[in-house]
Amino acid sequence: MTAKKALITGVTGQDGAYLSKLLVDKGYEVHGLLRRSASADVIDARLKWLGIANKVIYHDGNLVDLSCLIRIVEDVAPDEVYNLAAQSFVKSSWQQPLLTGSVTGLGAANVLEAVRIARPQARFYQASSSEMYGLIQEPIQSETTPFYPRSPYAVAKLYAHWMTVNYRESFGLHASSGILFNHESPLRGIEFVTRKITDGVARIKLGLQKNIMLGNLDAKRDWGHAKDYVQAMWLMLQQERPDDYVVATGRTTSVRTFCELAFAHVGLTAEDHISVDPRFMRPAEVDVLHGNSEKAQKALGWSPETSLEQLVAEMVEADLVRLKRHEHL
Ligand code: NDP
Ligand code: GDP
Repeated sequence: MTAKKALITGVTGQDGAYLSKLLVDKGYEVHGLLRRSASADVIDARLKWLGIANKVIYHDGNLVDLSCLIRIVEDVAPDEVYNLAAQSFVKSSWQQPLLTGSVTGLGAANVLEAVRIARPQARFYQASSSEMYGLIQEPIQSETTPFYPRSPYAVAKLYAHWMTVNYRESFGLHASSGILFNHESPLRGIEFVTRKITDGVARIKLGLQKNIMLGNLDAKRDWGHAKDYVQAMWLMLQQERPDDYVVATGRTTSVRTFCELAFAHVGLTAEDHISVDPRFMRPAEVDVLHGNSEKAQKALGWSPETSLEQLVAEMVEADLVRLKRHEHL
């Protein structure tokens, strides 16, 4: 039997790396969209960390260029397309609202168009986000909770989400959308709060830094492990019928508590080392996210495997290793 082929946009990001690993291990031929960068030597650092950089077939392209997407989809003829590429950092979306709209919103429509034109039988996954719930309309959010986006990022994701639903209903594409709550790992971008904290904790432990400056310590997120969440993405595309699913742990924790767990892991006390800096506050905040993934658990047989305590420990340990080796990611 010939290997299944997957095309992943955002292959160099956190989820792209974990999803590539999952699919390579399952025997897929994995293709990834690679945007041109002046840092070509380090762009695949996450894939290298997982030991699979040479197992992915790269294609030069960009989400804002429909012509290249059509060509790549035609050439690869994938069975599954995972659209993970995005300007994914909420805070930057206020500084670059139009770029965020072009990449995170219209970019998803470009990928859908490329699939519709060049490979309509492929199954499609859209990386939707719990940020779409924003100013939450229900204390625990599920697939039926109304959306109320609070940032240009979330508005762009909502457009991409509804385009996915619309292409499914209009053209019969096998297009599914995973409404994923925050998920982290040692491969999380350093600008996100969890990784900023675990990197800071490791630096403080090694005597390289004294404090961590943070924004809103009272914000609460439902944090899971990226490795568990890419499993849910894959499961969605193995279903006979496309659908939308919330993926979450069902436990919500404040930034402050995340700090306490991370400092405790290395025998230090958070309150001795964290201070608040208004520069890290946001023009409009998402105070709390708390997901209900019952549908995914029932229909996909998915459940989170990593506890928050295990996630924090793994992230702090990885940052200690990286700093001792003078590696940067
Ligand atoms: P990352 O920020 O780690 O990765 C984003 C990826 O998108 C990178 O590979 C980046 O490439 C690529 N990219 C950015 N702009 C373009 C562009 N114009 N053309 C092509 N590629 C581009 O995100 P994550 O892996 O954490 O998240 C994956 C997806 O899931 C994103 O869409 C994110 O918004 C969404 N999501 C993430 C959640 C989370 O908690 N992690 C929660 C819910 C949704 P490069 O390496 O060149 O920068
Ligand atoms: P987001 O949920 O996608 O915006 O993920 P982030 O990790 O960027 O932020 C999660 C929450 O942590 C938000 O409510 C932020 O306001 C809060 N937060 C508090 N301090 C910081 C900080 O220094 N950096 C970031 N990125 N977030 C912070």
